[in-house]
Amino acid sequence: MGFQAVRGTTDLLPDEVARWSAVEHTARRLSRLYGYREIRTPIIEEAGLFLRSVGETTDIIQKEMFRFEDRGGHDLVLRPEATASVVRAYLEHHLHKTEGFAKLFYLGPMFRAERPQAGRFRQFHQFGVEAIGSGSAWVDVEAILLCAQILRACGLPAALPSQPTGAAQAGVAGATVWLASMGCRADQKRSAEALRKRLSPHRAKLCKECQARFDKNVFRVLDCKNPSCRAIAWETPGSPFLLCDACAAHFDEVRRGVREAGVAFDDTKVFARGLDYYTRTVFEVRVQGLGAQDAVAAGGRYDHLVEELGGPPLGAVGFAAGIERLLMALKQGAAEAPSPARRGVYLAVAQAALLGDGFRLVHRLRERGVAALMDYDGKSLKAQLREADKLGCRLVAILGEAERTQGAMTLKDLEQGSQQTVALDAFVEEAAKQAKATCH
Ligand SMILES: [Zn+2]
Ligand SMILES: [Zn+2]
Repeated sequence: MGFQAVRGTTDLLPDEVARWSAVEHTARRLSRLYGYREIRTPIIEEAGLFLRSVGETTDIIQKEMFRFEDRGGHDLVLRPEATASVVRAYLEHHLHKTEGFAKLFYLGPMFRAERPQAGRFRQFHQFGVEAIGSGSAWVDVEAILLCAQILRACGLPAALPSQPTGAAQAGVAGATVWLASMGCRADQKRSAEALRKRLSPHRAKLCKECQARFDKNVFRVLDCKNPSCRAIAWETPGSPFLLCDACAAHFDEVRRGVREAGVAFDDTKVFARGLDYYTRTVFEVRVQGLGAQDAVAAGGRYDHLVEELGGPPLGAVGFAAGIERLLMALKQGAAEAPSPARRGVYLAVAQAALLGDGFRLVHRLRERGVAALMDYDGKSLKAQLREADKLGCRLVAILGEAERTQGAMTLKDLEQGSQQTVALDAFVEEAAKQAKATCH
């Protein structure tokens, strides 16, 4: 037995890549539609960046980071998430001075050094957006709408149904948007005290990790992986977050904007985003049936992160969606994607002596921007025709000795089932017209 992919990592074979590309293309196209521009940051960062931003008491920092020392003794990590990296790049390249408000999106792999389990991978992939430099509630609204539009365009079943009447209801059987406000830092301090007070009679019943989190970051109990902890934390209905007037007004604006845009949400769920940097708006898109890992996208506002990473005090908001989870959600609701239209030309040669002539034609087709394939190993004509069909080619051109001497080619259209003879000189132009396979 040879080598295998490392546990918790996955090879994507070409059929699978086609599904990924469709999601990536949709995410890019719609992000640009909303005025976001792509940013690419390295997958290696200094460990300190995440210690400072994500929070020392989080699971990510305590047990999930791929952390290592390089030969120069630098404390490095494979990025566990991208928000901190994007903010670092924003500051490092002075976008706060040159652009001020910047709307950025990214796609790429993230890493967690945890034991792989269903729906969790050591290398996983996210797309996400970060709008840095504004505290406006409209930016939150925009991020939520973009997230909803991307998921819907990807075909998430019953994704975030429109409510033409403007009624705020949870989505039915499929995706649901959970929306909450965690308030500002002062609100969080008050809320934490209140939550500690409420939970303290049950403290002994919480899991070991929650016991440890209790004093440092009690909100972590709200999203503990342990259902019994969540049951205790969620016992009292209503949000555990006490909002000041300004935060309450901000949250009202967000809710009104999302509701008026026709995206349904549920603002009655008790939840918190697990990372330390969140303030005010937080949201998750959850899909039933994905088990414990049922959030396909999540995000929120982080009004202090830019400052905490050494920049000016600037508000920001963003979200990230997990591509593996989204594809899992699509699979369980699917409606198999329709098979793609036939494209390109397969050039079949009747005998091996014609390989050179065939290859020259294939090359001319490709130079003309037409996808073209042929067999190089002297397969029988029948086998070549079978292969053309299997590969999804639109046209098969047959080059035989008779065709060559007569200066004509037989062109079969596999979609229409028709057949015609074209002059050899006109073959490339004719095939290009019919194959509908100009590559971009
Ligand atoms: Zn507040
Ligand atoms: Zn717990």
